[in-house]
Amino acid sequence: MSTRYIFITGGVVSSLGKGLASAALGALLQARGYKVRLRKLDPYLNVDPGTMSPYQHGECYVTDDGAETDLDLGHYERFTGVPARQTDNVTTGRIYSDIIAKERRGDYLGGTVQVIPHVTDAIREFVVSDLTDEDFVLCEIGGTVGDIEGLPFLEAIRQLGNELGRERTCYIHVTLLPFIGAAGELKTKPTQHSVKELLSVGIQPDILLCRAERPIPEGERRKIALFCNVKESRVIPALDVDTIYDVPNTYHAEGLDIELLRYFKALPEGDEEKVDLSTWEDITQRIRQPEGRVRIAVVGKYTVLLDAYKSLAEALTHGGIANNVKVELQWVDSEIFETEDPTPHLDGVHAILVPGGFGERGAEGKIKAVTFARERKVPYFGICFGMQMAVIEAARSLAGIDKAGSTEFGPCAEPIVGLLTEWVRGNVRETRAEGGDMGGTMRLGAYPCMLGEGSRVREIYDVAEISERHRHRYEVNIAYKERLEATGMVFSGMSPDGVLPEIVELPDHPWFVGVQFHPELKSKPFAPHPLFASFVAAALQQSRLV
Ligand code: GLN
Repeated sequence: MSTRYIFITGGVVSSLGKGLASAALGALLQARGYKVRLRKLDPYLNVDPGTMSPYQHGECYVTDDGAETDLDLGHYERFTGVPARQTDNVTTGRIYSDIIAKERRGDYLGGTVQVIPHVTDAIREFVVSDLTDEDFVLCEIGGTVGDIEGLPFLEAIRQLGNELGRERTCYIHVTLLPFIGAAGELKTKPTQHSVKELLSVGIQPDILLCRAERPIPEGERRKIALFCNVKESRVIPALDVDTIYDVPNTYHAEGLDIELLRYFKALPEGDEEKVDLSTWEDITQRIRQPEGRVRIAVVGKYTVLLDAYKSLAEALTHGGIANNVKVELQWVDSEIFETEDPTPHLDGVHAILVPGGFGERGAEGKIKAVTFARERKVPYFGICFGMQMAVIEAARSLAGIDKAGSTEFGPCAEPIVGLLTEWVRGNVRETRAEGGDMGGTMRLGAYPCMLGEGSRVREIYDVAEISERHRHRYEVNIAYKERLEATGMVFSGMSPDGVLPEIVELPDHPWFVGVQFHPELKSKPFAPHPLFASFVAAALQQSRLV
């Protein structure tokens, strides 16, 4: 079968869960035995989300190949298990910066450079490049139909429909049917307008995915079909669910996969139920019927927008799935601890996690959370910044290095955490400049790490070498290794050349692990990350003590 392309657009409002819809559809197609790839086209002008505030835009998701991408790629990976790549996310900013660089080089030989065809060509090239034998490529267009920035993308996917043929392309439009309490009705008008908007750029959607908080009456479905020129069976309800991992099941129950395959003339008679959803049924069952619960405090900074810690929250849920428990998260703003005693906030939690973060604000509060966890023997998991703070805490409290700090916060007498400007990846030497650009100058993507014999992490992973994803500028300073080890802290994970400390742990503690990488990026509901599974198990153990 030649590759088919599914374009997913959104209308009416943002935050409809288009990314989740795309990811769940990808998983559903996999459940029918197809090979899929998911991509995201982001119309904003930033070159990548690496420099965007997680407050505004949610977390920056990092791929194995070191791309800083939109958080939707995290959904794609969590639902399909297909590792995302740099070639799966593009923005207007990246497209223009490539085109302008070409123009400056004179590659256009004096021609006028225009949105059509140059920008649209670049978008089309992105959609069809770097593929092998995928059955389906799902391409999500960020933003909402009608956004000015989105126009070149809509034009490009319209052209692709023409060029590849409608038998190889399908347009799915995700809309909202708001419920108006006063009228007691779900309203179809915004959907009608949104489809009109799409039609005005030459795209007739083939399938409508209608988000609604309650069941859509037959009459309304018929009305949408009529006004939007879509078959009634292709007006698919997408109702709110109690767990996102139920979405592949509900899509199948509503016939989305069946309609899609019929559209592509790829559903042989009698194959309607040829789908293996056991993975998703099992996951939802475990989430809905936990045998216990644990409470974990996440002490961070971006606690106002939960999307800032999307992968982390999911990975903790996966850890719960592995242990058949519900993980309740208590988000704590670390700045509070700079003026207040952490005890009332942390007393009674079953584990403490300090996630990744940037900048000095709230750092001392995080260090206090580490002290609390270490002294009270509450399971502690430090991720990236959370590991750096744990090492600084040990340096101050255990090794007596009072001035221990990080050069991230300015010049420092005892740089326990500092900027490394040169390191090795495979056989290649990589460098970063002290005052370089903010974009793409971090240690990014997958790096190998060797686990020390007899360590806790070696037991947890049950292998000697692992590969995990990084996104940070600073490193734990190897020069302090001996002094820290003398206090009992073990450097249990190191880069293969022995220069970069990747994991630290305290053996005389129920569970105290700090990792320089971001394990949450690789956790899946059907394959919970070993560190999260183990951490939640430790929290469960702790819950039996308090
Ligand atoms: N700010 C720290 C650094 O750049 C940690 C980054 C992170 O937690 N992702 O090294």
